[in-house]
Amino acid sequence: MVGAPVYTADASRRWAEAVAVRAGRIVAVGAEPEVAALRGPATRVLRLRGGMVLPGFQDAHVHPSAGGLELLRCTLHELEPAAYQATVAGYAADHPAAPWVLGGGWVMDAFPGGAPHRAGLDAVVPDRPVYLESSDGHSAWVNGAALALAGVTAATPDPPRGRIERDAGGEPTGTLHEHAMALVGDLVPDPTPDELRRGIELGQAHLHRLGVTAWQDASVDAARLAAYRELAERDALTGRVVAAIGWDVEAGLAQLPEVRELRRGATVGRLRAGAVKLFQDGVFENRTAAMLEVYLDGDGRPTGNRGIGMLPADELATVVTALDRDGFDVHVHAIGDRAVRETLDAFQAAAEANGRRDARHQIAHLQFVHPDDRRRFRRLGVIANAQPFWACLDGYMRELTLPFLDPERAGWQYPWASLRRAGAVLAFGSDWTVSTANPLLEMEVAVTRVAPSDRRAEPFLPGERLDLPAALDAFTVGSAYALRLEADSGSIEPGKLADLAVLDRDPFDPDAGPVGDARVLATLVAGHPVHADPGLDLTG
Ligand SMILES: [Zn+2]
Repeated sequence: MVGAPVYTADASRRWAEAVAVRAGRIVAVGAEPEVAALRGPATRVLRLRGGMVLPGFQDAHVHPSAGGLELLRCTLHELEPAAYQATVAGYAADHPAAPWVLGGGWVMDAFPGGAPHRAGLDAVVPDRPVYLESSDGHSAWVNGAALALAGVTAATPDPPRGRIERDAGGEPTGTLHEHAMALVGDLVPDPTPDELRRGIELGQAHLHRLGVTAWQDASVDAARLAAYRELAERDALTGRVVAAIGWDVEAGLAQLPEVRELRRGATVGRLRAGAVKLFQDGVFENRTAAMLEVYLDGDGRPTGNRGIGMLPADELATVVTALDRDGFDVHVHAIGDRAVRETLDAFQAAAEANGRRDARHQIAHLQFVHPDDRRRFRRLGVIANAQPFWACLDGYMRELTLPFLDPERAGWQYPWASLRRAGAVLAFGSDWTVSTANPLLEMEVAVTRVAPSDRRAEPFLPGERLDLPAALDAFTVGSAYALRLEADSGSIEPGKLADLAVLDRDPFDPDAGPVGDARVLATLVAGHPVHADPGLDLTG
């Protein structure tokens, strides 16, 4: 492959002119004449006309199985909120025999207080239940038929770890947060194995189009893992996948034998299931992120609420210690500064009980990190699994976050540069379908702290901007480390797998425009194209 600069993500040699590939692996990287000397009679030369070659992106936290399934259903992702109602009505009309209308992708900042009303759904689907998850999966929008089916009324108490949105009279208004989602969600019929497989294939194709060659599916259950396994067994899984097995916080350590069994059965082809995912809190926007200090009420007055910690700190430490002893990489969702601290405490307890091992424990999201905790990531060897797209002044930040905070805590958000300076390994993930799966748009926010949809906005906490190499590393070598793939991929070095992406431009070129405007022309896994722009001739 010649004709475009090669960004290697290898700290000892960041740039090269050419890459040679044999039998799926990189055999040479360097100056063009050097690499050309290896050319044999059967060698194909792919001559690019500019652009940039880089390691395939690795998404350290993404939901392609759930996201692909949503693409098969009523999807509101990336729609204007004004189109939601008509989209639901259209889907219901197109699927008259479906007993439920299922889907998701609505954004919270489209509704007052982040909570849509059931009336909007009742007007278009009065006769059967509707269950639509928010784009972050932490809330559900349901209609009157769904509430009636589930028997949810003014008399229904909020379940533990969840909240039902209500009007002044206590009547449920149609939004269910966190564990309250299960009041209706538990009645939703399970997807069929065929739907699950088709969902993964759609999710995989979506990621490959964006240059992604490996990912961590950040929560799978037994059925999703079985679907992944089937695809892996017949070589239809072209991406390299770490499946993080979802941990049920209510079931406790009794589920450990089953989780071990799932891991054992899932080492096939490009699939591994050595990670366990658990939630230690919710999200800030619906007041369920676990904070060290209380939320403010929007007028600057303290409330009594510090959010929802999913497990008491000592129980979290017990679970994490048990999983660590069993060799699992533990992947914890933590948004609030209390959830982050309790999770770090749990990793510390595990290291004290079991000794340090080559673990790839990680905390995902990290919206609020108390400055005292930044140095603990390096000390404890905990990976910062970061979602760069959220670190900007979008509607979620302006309307649903900043009004409920004092300025000091507002300044602790998404501290990627501070964590890096403190020695943490940074691994980037998109959390698609929560946010775009496009790593180039994600990286643009990491380097600008400005939303690509509003490029003239002021940057959010500009001191936390990363430079472009740091952002690229977090989506390649950093995430490869989180996925235990760093010996074989994540950078362009002789001996590693030829997992590569080709861009239409060199984003380091000052005339290239915003990073997020770059496009992926081709994606290769082990030297085989899994995506190619029709205008690019890969036959050489
Ligand atoms: Zn996620």
